[in-house]
Amino acid sequence: MLKTREEYAIAVDIGGTNLRIAKVTRSYEYELLVLQKTPQEDKSEIIEIILRVVEQCKKELRLAPSGIGISAAGPVDPKAGIFFPPNLPYDEISLVFPLQDRAGTLVSLLNDCRAGVLGERYAGAGLIKQTDNMLYITFSTGIGVGAICNGHLVLGSRGNAGEMGHIPVRTRYTCRCSCGVFGHFEAYASGFGLPRFFVQFCEQNSTPHAFVSNAKEIFDRAIQRDPIAMKFLDEVASIIAYGLSTVVVAYDPSLIVVEGPIMRENPWFLEICLSKMEPYFTYVPDIVLSSLNGYAPLLGSIVPVFEPSSVI
Ligand SMILES: [Zn+2]
Repeated sequence: MLKTREEYAIAVDIGGTNLRIAKVTRSYEYELLVLQKTPQEDKSEIIEIILRVVEQCKKELRLAPSGIGISAAGPVDPKAGIFFPPNLPYDEISLVFPLQDRAGTLVSLLNDCRAGVLGERYAGAGLIKQTDNMLYITFSTGIGVGAICNGHLVLGSRGNAGEMGHIPVRTRYTCRCSCGVFGHFEAYASGFGLPRFFVQFCEQNSTPHAFVSNAKEIFDRAIQRDPIAMKFLDEVASIIAYGLSTVVVAYDPSLIVVEGPIMRENPWFLEICLSKMEPYFTYVPDIVLSSLNGYAPLLGSIVPVFEPSSVI
């Protein structure tokens, strides 16, 4: 619980499924105020919900927030303040300027992987290690990377640097990515790609397989020592080791924080992936699972409010 008149910011995490809003102190202690399904029908409802939270906090704490930070699951245009949601039934939503005008406070918008690495740097493993060169990589429906290099968030020309799910990986299999191109990392190692890759793996290895509808079923079968699922995940681990090695080469980090339900629920699998990295590359940085339980993007969203120099 925040103390009255203690400095705080409003953190917003807009996912394809859930909308989360929290008030967060300068020391990144948070109180979750909203957890609900992301509005699907009326996109303006997102802005109205955020404004209601801001008004409620102002009234209760007798202090305006220092700013509003938004993490959005998908491509963004941070300068124009627009989010282009890939998993919601509208093409774009203008967030920053309408909110800034009506709330009368600074508003920042970042893609969730960019926000995630800031969350890890200021509230997670990066804070413990005190490193200025680190990555956050999430294995979720897709695969994305957020990077801090020499103390600064890497944004790129359009604010979307780090879409590493779309790098080519080395494998004899030819799976189609969610973007339509064959051979991308995400086509083999994401929640989207794993069930599709499993079908091709069984076909090419002349192995009959039971239908799987999601990645969790494959992991459950491997845990039950199903030899096909185990052989398949060994192949996936090789591809992930290749992908991680490419990311290490690109950014030269001293720390990588791994997140996403696939890895969070199966830490043993990350160990297998890491054991395969050595043949590709001699330097392997510290690679750890996130300890923030999926809250890194939410907490990172308000870093531009409290630490503006980190995103310049
Ligand atoms: Zn792709």
